[in-house]
Formats: sequence, C-alpha cells, structure tokens
Amino acid sequence: MQEEIEIQHRRVGVIMLHGACSMSCLFCITENSLTEMTSEQVEEVLKIIEERDMESVVFGGGEPLQWTYSLVHSINLAKSLGLHTQVGTNGIGLTSNIIEKINADRYILPLDSVNPQVHNYLRGGFRKHYDIIRKRLKYLTERGISFTISTVICRVNIDILSEISAFLLHLWDKGARIHAWHLYRFLPLGRNGFKNANMLNISKNEYFDKTEEMKKRDLPFFVYRRPNMKLSKEVDFFWAEEGCIKIGSQVWFEKQSPDCLCK
Ligand code: SF4
Repeated sequence: MQEEIEIQHRRVGVIMLHGACSMSCLFCITENSLTEMTSEQVEEVLKIIEERDMESVVFGGGEPLQWTYSLVHSINLAKSLGLHTQVGTNGIGLTSNIIEKINADRYILPLDSVNPQVHNYLRGGFRKHYDIIRKRLKYLTERGISFTISTVICRVNIDILSEISAFLLHLWDKGARIHAWHLYRFLPLGRNGFKNANMLNISKNEYFDKTEEMKKRDLPFFVYRRPNMKLSKEVDFFWAEEGCIKIGSQVWFEKQSPDCLCK
C-alpha cells in the first residue's frame, strides 16, 4: 500500500536515455553500467509516465543530445501525451538550430561558477564550456524560452554561490525566463564523484547552511535544494540495464532492488 502511495504522488519522470557524454565533470554521478534505451523503450516509458498521471518528463543522460535515436520524435510523442517536456543537457550541442528543431518546453543547463576558470575546472572535458553556457543562456533569454539552472555544490564552489545568484538575477532583469535554480549537493557516487570524493566532499551542515543563505535571498525564481535526488519524493528515474527498463524511486533505493518494467 505504501508503495502505491509513493508512485501516485510523483510528478516528474526522468528518462536516462544512455550514459555517454562528451564531458567528464569532476562530480559526475552517472553510472557506466547505464545502457542505451531504444526509441521503443522510451515510448513504453512515456506511456507509463502518462498512466501514472505525472506532469512532466525530463530527457537526460549522460548527454541526451548524443542519444543515437531521435529526440525530436520522443519529445513530440511526450507532448502528444500532454506532458511538459524538459531536456537536461550539458549545453554543448544545444545550438540555436537544435533548440528550434527539438522545441522542448524547457532546458536544464549547468552553471557551477561565474568564474570561468572555476566552472571549466569542475566541468572537465570541454575547454571553453563556460563560454558555451553563457552563449546558450543569452539565446534562450532573447528567445523567451524557459530554462532551469543546475549547480553542483562542492568544496571548490561552496563559498561563491552568491556570485551565481547575482548573475541569475541580472539575467532575470534582462527578461530571462528562469524557472528554477537547482542546488545539488555533491555526492561521492558514480564514475567521477566516487574517485574525487576527498577533494570535493562537503558536509550535510555546510550544504544546508549555504543553500539556506541562497533561499533567504527571495529570488524571483524557484530555488530548490537537491541534497540527494535518489531520495526525492517527486521524481521517478527510468533507465535501461541489460535489456530491461528499470524504474528507481525512493522505494527502490531503500529496497536496493529496482523494479523491472518489461512485460
Ligand atoms: S555531469 Fe558532466 S560528465 Fe556527467 S553526464 Fe552531466 S555533463 Fe556529462
């Protein structure tokens, strides 16, 4: 009974299309065991999301714009099912042409510092990533397209969050449709987070104190704490592993045995 209640209340379905990504962020928690979902598997997941009365779907990865199959097709299908569509991307492939083509309702982009050196250091694998993000945000602002910013808070950037909030406020004043600022806590998990734990770890108290400061600023967009998405009561994650579609949620992470949705 408890499980049924948990499932019914989730608002957002996150589809992890595959694990590949051209970047190598120091805090990446993606697991290398993630396999690529086919278009048909995504179709199946979207129907499950619709049946569960979820409101929104996030296409994520790895990097969703590197997915082999057609993201445009999956986004259109999600829209036809009445779902709000979001793409969580590292932004490298999110050119103006691609934005026009995929036409998602919202984009989720990373920003971990407004100091280019700090941001590029954390977001390894692409030398001028900071410049690319600034360019993408400028375009989305000019076009009036909604976006969310995600920041991973770790030892390197924990004391410079104020600068990001000031920058986002500046963008807001210029007309940016910022939906939310997600403040993720660094977790020592996955392909890079685990091995960089000593360098990046922060305590629970440090995380809550610093995020509290940001929340108290009364910013004109949502500021969400994300201490551990695996424990979120709002989100279900879907991914493929060994040919099966799996679903993970708080229930799953507590049980340590993901449900397989294959029929
Ligand atoms: S955290 Fe970085 S490396 Fe990992 S999937 Fe996201 S953009 Fe790619």
